[in-house]
Amino acid sequence: MKNLSKSAVAVLLALSLTQPVLAEQAKSEAHAKNVILLISDGAGMQTWNAASYYRFGALGKEVYDKFDVKLFASTYPLNTSTTPTKSNDGKVTFDPENLWKDQASTAEFKGKLRTYPNYFTGYQYATSDYTDSAAAATALASGYKTYNNAINWSNDDTRLKHIGEYVVESGRALGVVTSVQWTHATPAGFLAHNNNRNNYQEIAQEIINSGLATVVMGAGHPYYDNDGKASAPKDDKAFRYVGGKESWDKLAVGDTEYRLIERKEDFVDLANNHLDLKGKKKVLGTAQVKETLQFNRAGTSAENRLSTSPDLATMTKGALNVVSQNPNGFFLMVEGGAVDWAAHANNLPRIIEEQIDFNLTVEAVVDWVEKNSSWEETLVIVTTDHGNGLLQGVNSDQKAYAEIINQGAGALPLVRWHTDNHTRELVPVYAKGQGANYFTTIAKDAPSLANYSYTTKEMQRYIDNTNIFDAAAKSLGIKTDKN
Ligand SMILES: [Zn+2]
Repeated sequence: MKNLSKSAVAVLLALSLTQPVLAEQAKSEAHAKNVILLISDGAGMQTWNAASYYRFGALGKEVYDKFDVKLFASTYPLNTSTTPTKSNDGKVTFDPENLWKDQASTAEFKGKLRTYPNYFTGYQYATSDYTDSAAAATALASGYKTYNNAINWSNDDTRLKHIGEYVVESGRALGVVTSVQWTHATPAGFLAHNNNRNNYQEIAQEIINSGLATVVMGAGHPYYDNDGKASAPKDDKAFRYVGGKESWDKLAVGDTEYRLIERKEDFVDLANNHLDLKGKKKVLGTAQVKETLQFNRAGTSAENRLSTSPDLATMTKGALNVVSQNPNGFFLMVEGGAVDWAAHANNLPRIIEEQIDFNLTVEAVVDWVEKNSSWEETLVIVTTDHGNGLLQGVNSDQKAYAEIINQGAGALPLVRWHTDNHTRELVPVYAKGQGANYFTTIAKDAPSLANYSYTTKEMQRYIDNTNIFDAAAKSLGIKTDKN
């Protein structure tokens, strides 16, 4: 060292310090190009199990069961007010251990369908202080907890920036697909901002006029009924899901950035990559059905599916064909929205039908990643926004959280509903691909999840729904106001 000048020593020192730093940076610079988030709306753990039993007569056979990361998430809102409180009043707290308490309870849940005995203090905890889909979507999309009804709107009454905006700023494309109206709470959470989820018309106008998303798809057609039959709109209200009559007319004549597609054949053609976009680069799909692709059709059984509606997997394949044109990548949110509607109706055949449609969509997404991308390039997250129905086994009035009883493939499992509304259960999260490990590094222990016989030790852990935003942003290498 004696022969070296002071400046040479400084250079050597700098090199020895920076080289490991550079190596570290290079390691941490592996980012996803794409993130695909799939949300089965209102699907507690036993809803996923019911669908698997019906499909396979067994658990562990779904494509997401093979994902590297499997754990749970908390979903509780900031508070249960329906307007901003601008204060800490009524703040919801959460301790997962309370869910499992099995002391007898004489409390009841007064639902719309009927009154449900709580049976156990754990059920009482699970059926109270729950999130709605708007606060849940805001948590998933913006990373912030808020009041129920808020679409990317804070409890301080201010606008929150959502992942879709960050993604578009990063040069990537945004896509949103749902089996319910594309202005419903969950899709709105990835597209818009509003202090009230019920302002459908304003939400639709923001979606169309901002042009933020490259693809938006769902139901909500003003000229069709819930059976997919042409039906003249009764009044202006019939156009609220698509932004009002004027807004719809502009879309229909091609006077927006979006190519409007409506017919099932067009969704199929887009999925097969041979639909003429008529010079447009963006697609707004509104299937020819009023509110849901399937669920709101006549009857309550799983029979007589509408042949006029595209299925969620077909819509998702089409959306992938459009957003993947962006060389920088994309963020795609896909919602099985009517799983929640079936839970509100305590309708077992149709909740299974909806969850299977969702599961087939996850399969289509995994297939797309493996054929057109890779797990180094893409992160896939599969989850729900909250539980609904507190679906449990038929003996769950005697034994807390008794599991549903498998009756084999093609047969309905034996179940008992404990509410017709949302819950604050811990809900499943499955992840695979670039950045999926983030969840494992931040998860907290919830040993009581061992009450579910099928959870391994690694699965007895949970994250918070806001961490799904963190994971998506981190995976994409996007700096947010949270990190
Ligand atoms: Zn929901």
